[in-house]
Amino acid sequence: MERVYNFSAGPSALPLPVLEKARNELINTNNSGMSVMEMSHRSKMFLDIITEAEKLLRELMNIPENYEVLFLQGGASTQFAMVPLNLFSKSKKADFVNTGLWSKKAIAEAKKYGIVNVVASSEDKVFNYIPELDKSKFTEDADFFHITINNTIYGTRYTSLPDTGDVPLVTDMSSSILSQVYDVNRFGLIYAGAQKNIGPAGLTIVIIRKDLIGKAMDITPTMLNYQVHAENGSMYNTPPTFAIYMAMLVFQWLKDMGGVAEIEKVNIEKAGLLYDFLDNSRLFRGTVVPKDRSLMNVPFILPSEELNQKFIKEAKEAGLVNLAGHRSVGGMRASIYNPMPIEGVKALVRFMEKFELENKIN
Ligand SMILES: *Cc1c(COP(=O)(O)O)cnc(C)c1O
Repeated sequence: MERVYNFSAGPSALPLPVLEKARNELINTNNSGMSVMEMSHRSKMFLDIITEAEKLLRELMNIPENYEVLFLQGGASTQFAMVPLNLFSKSKKADFVNTGLWSKKAIAEAKKYGIVNVVASSEDKVFNYIPELDKSKFTEDADFFHITINNTIYGTRYTSLPDTGDVPLVTDMSSSILSQVYDVNRFGLIYAGAQKNIGPAGLTIVIIRKDLIGKAMDITPTMLNYQVHAENGSMYNTPPTFAIYMAMLVFQWLKDMGGVAEIEKVNIEKAGLLYDFLDNSRLFRGTVVPKDRSLMNVPFILPSEELNQKFIKEAKEAGLVNLAGHRSVGGMRASIYNPMPIEGVKALVRFMEKFELENKIN
């Protein structure tokens, strides 16, 4: 079978050159005589891989020296607990913005360990916008302030960051890391599951300002303590070695593409093609308010559930797969992460044009 254009929200498409390189090296990685999956994580060979992965990520995101980069497991969902366990060090209060399902899960987890203040929510409109933030509602002595910077399910993103003063800004960046230039200095902590823009599932990246490490709550399990992982170079226990190797290859690929600023331009162009089509269509409709539209996840709907299903089915037959929206919202969603080539987006838009002609209302 031909490779398809895969619009999956995650795990999602990987760059073909990365998959080909991994295939070619699968049984003999870096001339070691063994697969990366068979190497001791303590070996020099693997140490070179994780060191290179960190170096490339630091370069791509311009991560300052006073930040630690950790390669962890457990997905973004484990960070929902790990963040409060480690950052509730003084007031045990935190501010959250509720912009969807992932925010809600993070809020529910933090509530187990401290006091959560939800400063704003967009739940009234099925999370189709990023709410305005009123600084007077922020908790002055909060231990951290949490946002979900790109909302994978609803297709919204922050285009500016809240000014939280001395309160560390924490973000779930799972679905937009490396897709656009972010100033790491603005954050106390960034976390991201790998399976959207970095590599295979099983790896979680944490970028944390060093002064926030070492103040975990007493009840914090060893494996959930950032200090333990920082002091052991992400090797307190066996890290997800193959996923880290794949991430290294993706970082290398992105660097070869010209880095984050370059891919951001492509991402703006890709998303623009889809949004332009949606704005001019008489049949399809984008669901997000224009100013908060994500560059990575583009949700849209047709006038009836019947047409939605017809579209998803026919698109699949045309090699455009995984276009169904999240099970909690329905409709369609095109996830167009870094590895999705512009040709894939053009093919989708052409298909939507054709579908519109064939399914004219009146
Ligand atoms: C996918 C996703 C998650 C869940 O990630 P897991 O790695 O499955 O735990 C959390 N937050 C956001 C923004 C996501 O896109």
